[in-house]
Amino acid sequence: MAVQSVESSTTSPAASPASTSPTPSFGPAVALSCRECGERFDLGPIFACTACFGPLEIAYELPTGDPEGLRRRIEAGPNNIWRYAPLLPVPADVADTPSLNPGFTKLVKADNLARELGVTGELHIKDDSGNPTHSFKDRVVAIAVQAARTFGFTTLSCSSTGNLAGAVGAAAARAGFRSCVFIPHDLEAGKVVMAAVYGGDLVGIEGTYDDVNRFCSELIGDPAGEGWGFVNVNLRPYYGEGSKTLAYEICEQLGWRLPDQIVIPIASGSQLTKIDKGLKELIQLGLVEDRPYKIFGAQAEGCSPVSAAFKAGHDVVRPQKPNTIAKSLAIGNPADGPYVLDIARRTGGAVEDVTDEQVVDAIKLLARTEGIFAETAGGVTVGVTKKLIEDGLLDPALTTVVLNTGDGLKTLDAVAPTTGPSATIRPTLDSFREAGLV
Ligand SMILES: *Cc1c(COP(=O)(O)O)cnc(C)c1O
Ligand SMILES: [Zn+2]
Repeated sequence: MAVQSVESSTTSPAASPASTSPTPSFGPAVALSCRECGERFDLGPIFACTACFGPLEIAYELPTGDPEGLRRRIEAGPNNIWRYAPLLPVPADVADTPSLNPGFTKLVKADNLARELGVTGELHIKDDSGNPTHSFKDRVVAIAVQAARTFGFTTLSCSSTGNLAGAVGAAAARAGFRSCVFIPHDLEAGKVVMAAVYGGDLVGIEGTYDDVNRFCSELIGDPAGEGWGFVNVNLRPYYGEGSKTLAYEICEQLGWRLPDQIVIPIASGSQLTKIDKGLKELIQLGLVEDRPYKIFGAQAEGCSPVSAAFKAGHDVVRPQKPNTIAKSLAIGNPADGPYVLDIARRTGGAVEDVTDEQVVDAIKLLARTEGIFAETAGGVTVGVTKKLIEDGLLDPALTTVVLNTGDGLKTLDAVAPTTGPSATIRPTLDSFREAGLV
């Protein structure tokens, strides 16, 4: 395993203009490029453009020219995200490095749910609760860990709405990093335990996620945070690329076919924008047929800044103070909000929100119809799908994929008040008969 250490990049956050030669540590990635002004920088632990402060993202020289060969190479790869290593900012031998090896989760054809929702086309649930720490966050963290190794960081950190903290804790344990992660102090018990059990440090902060995130930005600039890789801050360009694997998997699992419509939850909006990037790459590489697809974003009403901006026809997102049971999505000031608006509008999709009550109903609907127990974020996407169909914005005759990004065991409190035993009886047949279940 040859992981190159880029010593100079770890101490100097200053960006320098890009040289174009690829480095083996980052596979097909050649540079960081500014999403606003297009300025390019060398691959390093930086996340904002020095010219315009715009967010940086990974630029590639992708292996075009032999789609059949690339498809065969992917299909021969491991049953996890590393099968897509030729399209990710990771070394070619990445599958040999210590990782939780997330991904290749089930794409479930949800015929029972389709019937309930009046869907006559294909309806699929991409069920990312099957990842190692039971949320989609294992994907993004796996890529960030590779970058952290390359840059010589020794501590992994993050600001988290819950799932990310657990994913970082677990990945750090597996890959031999120290970890110290930050969460709002009032998260669900299941998420707090999952963030702490892997043995790293967990710090609760008295404030919202947006306060936690601001704190982490300060820590990066302070000697106390030196040598720390914050997966969703200074490693954010690498982290984001992990979400592309959802696009790749969905298309491969559909038989190398684009879905017509995808419903994606929005917290910061990173996942939604990178799924769009992944779909565009598959078209560019000739791995799927080039035809239109629509991207729909889903939020909870109690934290719906992107949905509100979409409906008002605004290009900018006005921050909100979150108040919803969908805590994993409770980011009031989403970094990628404007890009999400652009993608939803450009593809002919929409951004919609549902109430907490509708979230709970949708969790139960998915459980009852398909045997999938989603966390609140999955209730948001299923609830929004139902609403979009009712409002005529999502075409029930087409192929639709709905994301479930987390496991219901993480948010038991959301359903516990309205879910429980049908009866509690004495251990006698008489008592059972009296309960009225037969
Ligand atoms: C983090 C998260 C998301 C999406 O987050 P983005 O910041 O929008 O990428 C979706 N679902 C769950 C369960 C999450 O934890
Ligand atoms: Zn710029």
